[in-house]
Amino acid sequence: MKLVTFEKDGGARPGVIVDDRGSILDISAVMPTISSLNELIEAGPPALEALAEHARGTVPGARLIPAADAKLLAPIPMPNRNIFCVGKNYHEHAKEFHDSGFDATSGKDAVPEHPIIFSKSFTTVTGPGAPIPATADWTNSVDYEVELAVVIGRRGKNIAKADAYDHVFGYTIVNDVTSRHLQHQHKQWFIGKNFDGFCPMGPWLVTADEVGNVEELDVKTTVNGETRQSAVVRDLIFDIPTLIETLSRVMTLLPGDIIATGTPAGVGIGFDPPRFLKPGDEVSVSISKLGTLSNPVT
Ligand code: MG
Repeated sequence: MKLVTFEKDGGARPGVIVDDRGSILDISAVMPTISSLNELIEAGPPALEALAEHARGTVPGARLIPAADAKLLAPIPMPNRNIFCVGKNYHEHAKEFHDSGFDATSGKDAVPEHPIIFSKSFTTVTGPGAPIPATADWTNSVDYEVELAVVIGRRGKNIAKADAYDHVFGYTIVNDVTSRHLQHQHKQWFIGKNFDGFCPMGPWLVTADEVGNVEELDVKTTVNGETRQSAVVRDLIFDIPTLIETLSRVMTLLPGDIIATGTPAGVGIGFDPPRFLKPGDEVSVSISKLGTLSNPVT
């Protein structure tokens, strides 16, 4: 299923897309105890099965919101805690970042020996169409990063790689927007990646059963229609089971947790000179089966 959060009467409502035209069934209209996708995830598999029944049994036109009338928000507009992110997780990107001069954490080797984990505050999250506030960064070095994001469905500690996918609820796209100069100046990446509005997410949260083999998904970024990043999830240095094992070895993963898995080559600092985002640009990040997330730069 393709799950969304949409704006209605000034509030955020959970929805499920029920046809090829993008029509939305308001989940809270058929399951009154569910008022957000976080609550749906926490309610577990029985709630998801009940929702699938409702979505299948929808009478065309009945209680549906046409796609054109719905303003989509991030599928999880208010995560329960920070988004866990992975740095330098594609070989070609690790090399371009290492060679760019912007990587203050870099040793002599471009490729990390263990996953590099940092976080983005939940206050960075915005949705489809929301402006990326590039002018907020006084160093004028804002860059894009398309990333596959994994949403955890089942609580777990010390999750073995072999069991990792049992803990995955589904997938979405995030753009890990970054101030490169601040990322470099502060050594640790948190400051450069945590401006409000620096984590566009969406357009949908697609359940794992609908995605199938996640390693086959294509990942892409365009800026003003020009392709900048293009890769396949299979090229991750540390795959999704490894990331879940790494995180859950030290902390309990909870339903609704989001793990952004890292970005491939082709970011703005991979160019010489760097090609940073500027007001008026339009950034679109896409992943096959997960849709396209477009945001204007302001
Ligand atoms: Mg990133």
